[in-house]
Amino acid sequence: MSESRTVQKTEKSAGMGEILLENTLSNRKEVFVPLHPGEVRMYTCGPTVYDYAHIGNYRTFVFQDILRRFLRSRGFRMNHVMNLTDVDDRIIQNAAEKGISIFDYTAKYIQAFKEDMAALSLETPEHLIRATDHIDDMVTLIEKLDTKGMTYRSDGSIYYRIAKFPDYGKLSKVDLSGIQAGARVEVDRYEKADARDFALWKSPKPGEHFWETRIGPGRPGWHIECSAMAMKYLGETLDIHTGGVDLTFPHHENEIAQSEGVTGHPFVKYWLHAEHLIIDGEKMSKSLGNFYTLRDLLKKGHKPSTIRYMLASVPYRRQLNFTGESIQQAASSVERLRNFVARIKEGKFPADANPGMAARAQKAEADFEAGLADDLNTAVALAAIFDLVRDVNTAIDRGEFRQQDAPRVLAAMEKFDAIFAIIEDNDAAKVRALGFESDAPEMSAAEIDGLVAERQQARKERNFKRADEIRQELAERGILLEDTREGGIRWKKK
Ligand code: AMP
Ligand code: ZN
Repeated sequence: MSESRTVQKTEKSAGMGEILLENTLSNRKEVFVPLHPGEVRMYTCGPTVYDYAHIGNYRTFVFQDILRRFLRSRGFRMNHVMNLTDVDDRIIQNAAEKGISIFDYTAKYIQAFKEDMAALSLETPEHLIRATDHIDDMVTLIEKLDTKGMTYRSDGSIYYRIAKFPDYGKLSKVDLSGIQAGARVEVDRYEKADARDFALWKSPKPGEHFWETRIGPGRPGWHIECSAMAMKYLGETLDIHTGGVDLTFPHHENEIAQSEGVTGHPFVKYWLHAEHLIIDGEKMSKSLGNFYTLRDLLKKGHKPSTIRYMLASVPYRRQLNFTGESIQQAASSVERLRNFVARIKEGKFPADANPGMAARAQKAEADFEAGLADDLNTAVALAAIFDLVRDVNTAIDRGEFRQQDAPRVLAAMEKFDAIFAIIEDNDAAKVRALGFESDAPEMSAAEIDGLVAERQQARKERNFKRADEIRQELAERGILLEDTREGGIRWKKK
């Protein structure tokens, strides 16, 4: 395996072309070097599809989306696996309560997750796959662990014997002193104080869904699916594994024990964990009941781009405090960027170019890149964009911006948006795709004509802010504007 250099946390910036990532395993920022040149093999623990995901979950998924977009912008080919946990304690219980199969139960939430991903402009990983399609791979892995003497049976269930894996605890730094060999935990999700032998395979309980397999009837414990699916598609050692901090223990610790217990090789080179989204000082979670789903917020009238911006704007290693104010700020930041792009696209400026503008755009791009290369510091990257917006707006107001500067500045904005994906105004269409009806009444043709005329007048008066507000208001109602060859405006309903 190629060596990775470690860098002290205090070091501020990556070298030319380098990407620094903070590795939970070493607690250090390290220079990212993929195992296979040009390719990144990455695994993300996906949602447990027992309900709609909440925006805390999407904080973590937006982070991994920014990461993969950034790596792609650097020319890497992604091979990215995300699992859908479609069998676990809660799914089995909820499906039983409803009297339906676990497959019928989870189908609805898998579909909802895919729709939410589209609404939040999350790229679809190369492999977005269900745990229940990989039972045989899990059984094979458990058999291999068994051959190595790392498992034992009790009442038809199979447990991992953590005393057989001396490295247990290296990721989460859990203290194993005082842990009694052979003590077991029965549940999939538990606290650090409960570091115990965990279930790889659970014997069936009456009425529960189970699989008939070579290792007996039953169903997998939660942790085994990620080891089996990651290694099946990505090989024994992956470059990057992501998830929220709550997964560090026990889930990721157990993934390491299962994978390295079989292969004897490092399972993952870089472990990246997103800090939580916090509401009223507490982690947003289903069990605390303090959560909003994406749909809850969209129904209140917030835009998908606002939510994506809010989730992306705080660097992933910092907690994100969710408040009404943070949403308002995100909304106005997105507006500001969209207005700016509209101003450049629609404005008429004096001919030729101001050489200072190209240099300014180039500096913004360099600052943006440097921010992201420093462990995905999205706050620094966004500051680079807003500084450019401010300086270009000032230049326009002073008459120093020229027509030929426009494509250069727009090119910089496109680079930013390849990562942040919030400038293109497709919010209304995205909300409609989720099947929501807009609360706003339909506009009459006369009202639309009136607004189009007002917008033309605003443009004539160089009031681009008002012109853009009108364009957005119409877009929200599904009305598209087109320039006609005669110099007028035609509108149509989407
Ligand atoms: P789950 O569906 O519970 O398996 O969680 C899916 C992902 O969301 C995991 O990576 C969790 O770590 C992450 N997650 C859960 N709650 C939060 C939160 N409040 N903030 C950020 N990430 C979270
Ligand atoms: Zn996992």
